[in-house]
Amino acid sequence: MVLRILRWTNRAYAFVALAVYMLAFVVAFVCMFSFPVGALILVVLGVLSLAFVALGRDVLQALERWMSRRALSQGRCPACTTGPMSLVLQGTIQQCRGCGAKFEPDGSETQMLESEEANKVAA
Ligand SMILES: [Zn+2]
Repeated sequence: MVLRILRWTNRAYAFVALAVYMLAFVVAFVCMFSFPVGALILVVLGVLSLAFVALGRDVLQALERWMSRRALSQGRCPACTTGPMSLVLQGTIQQCRGCGAKFEPDGSETQMLESEEANKVAA
């Protein structure tokens, strides 16, 4: 359950961050004509907060990979939490037999196509 919420949060994180920055842009644009110091403060805060937004993304993704690795080691699919996992691509990538989601050994989900897997095996 926590993993599913975390997965959804990671998918939505970039869009929410973009929406917040666009809202700040609109507020700063309005402030430019009425309260110029406010616009300046918003610009400075926006630039300084970028590091924390990126750090938060990295922490959330690392947490998701860690929880995914735990689920995979227990034979559960991190995406649908049910289906048994099968090993594909020389035993490195695990694929869910239920939903078809594929996971790298580090726990991150991959979108690799069948043809790309064949190339990786050939290389
Ligand atoms: Zn699944």
